[in-house]
This record gives sequence, structure tokens and C-alpha cells, in this order.
Amino acid sequence: MVAPDRISLNTATVRQQWNLRECIEGCSRHGIGAIAPWRDKLAECGVDEGARMIHDHGLRVSGLCRGGMFPAADAAGRQAALDDNRRAVDEAVTIGAVCLVLVVGGLPAGSKDLPDARQQVQDGIAATLEYARTVDMPLAIEPLHPMYAGDRACVNTMRQALDMCDALGEGVGVALDVYHVWWDPELDHQIARAGARNLLAFHVCDWLVPTKDLLLDRGMMGDGVIDIPHIRRQVTANGFTGDVEVEIFSQDNWWRQDPDHVLATLVERCATVV
Ligand code: ZN
Repeated sequence: MVAPDRISLNTATVRQQWNLRECIEGCSRHGIGAIAPWRDKLAECGVDEGARMIHDHGLRVSGLCRGGMFPAADAAGRQAALDDNRRAVDEAVTIGAVCLVLVVGGLPAGSKDLPDARQQVQDGIAATLEYARTVDMPLAIEPLHPMYAGDRACVNTMRQALDMCDALGEGVGVALDVYHVWWDPELDHQIARAGARNLLAFHVCDWLVPTKDLLLDRGMMGDGVIDIPHIRRQVTANGFTGDVEVEIFSQDNWWRQDPDHVLATLVERCATVV
């Protein structure tokens, strides 16, 4: 059971219905204690105004979504990614985020070289980390389900992400999203390996059977097949004390519903099936 005050609303969950102000006010109405904005929502209102609104409503910020997308076909593309990640670090600092979540990127256009893409990711995080350390902003690598290896993230398991953390040193950890890692036979072991030091964020939703869209058909907790309480117990037992972030991309269902109904439902599900 997760009390409302320990829930974080990832703004993607009501992306089609609400702007950042409406998300913040919705959290207040439903007793939700934290928020995780996407950068597009922040950009709409301006980062400073977003930070002010979040602060005025007393919300914690469980993470900023997102930095990353490091691999590129040429040096100019790689530099543009580094510049954007530096801006993302600054935005995360401005809103007081626990971490900047990294969706690391997939194969560059025209490439079939996954090892090279993964090296580009590691190099990109290393460069971003140099700056992030100076402003005390932790970076959280989010391993994505392998179905996204081509276009979104070539880091696909907790083991891979933690190996990268080991290679990179202080200031980088992982964002564990149950949607991406629930299938992994090594999951419990890798959560224990991560421990409190490397578990920076915990995202929940559910895996629907069947899943109709690879990106935009995530389920509400309890509507799918992920043993979410088991995973939550593992992260808690291994020292994670952060907020439980609800992140649901749902084009044909939850994005079409009254957002107050969405928030009421996720609060109820966090109490009963998370
Ligand atoms: Zn996530």
C-alpha cells in the first residue's frame, strides 16, 4: 500500500488533458505529494514559473523526464545532444528534482552497430556527468524494454545500466520502471545489487495482455500482469525511500478520460495493488 503523499504524478499520465499548472493543482486536490514533469510541460510555462508553482504547492519532484538520446550519426549530432543534456541538468536543478532521468537513445540513423551505440551512450553520460556533479544533480539511467533498443534506448536491462554505473562512478544511478524490467529473470538480483545508492527512481504502471501499441498502451496498475507489490517490496527492502512515480502512456484509454478520474483511480490503485 502506497499512501497518496508518497505518490508522484508523472505528467505523461495525463499528458493529453492537462498542462503543468493543472497537473500541480490536480496533485493538490488528490493529496498526491510529488510530481515528475516532462520537459515539454515545463517549457510550455517556462522553467522558472514551473519551479515556482511546484514550490508554492509544496510538491516534491521525483525526477525530471528526460535527458539522454546520446547516440548520433556525426560529431555535430553528438555535441547537440550534450548541449541539450546540460540544459536538462540545469532545469532539473531549477525545479529541485531528485534526479534527471535519462532515456539514453537507440541506434543512430543508418547504423546497425549496437555496441557502438552503447559506447556512445556511456561517453555521453560521462560527459554530462562531469557537469552534473558540479551542480549535485544525480543522473538516472532508465533501462527500457528491449523492444525500444532500435529507436529509444540501447540500455535494456538493470544489469547493463548498473554495469554502466560501475564504470562511470559517483553521481549516476538507475530509474527502475516496472514496465521495462518486469520480465527480467535477474531483476531481484539486480535490485539488490543496485541498493539505495543506485536506486534513484521507481516508476509504475502495468503490462497489458495483449499490448496493442508498443509505446502508448500502458495499463493502470492492477489491470495487467506485473507483480508490482513484489517489485516494490524488493526496492523498499534494498533501501529505496523515494516516491512511487505513476507513469502511464495510454492513448486509447487513460488519455481520453477525465483527468480527475485518472488521478482518483491511480490513488486508489496505489493503495490496493501497488
Ligand atoms: Zn519510466
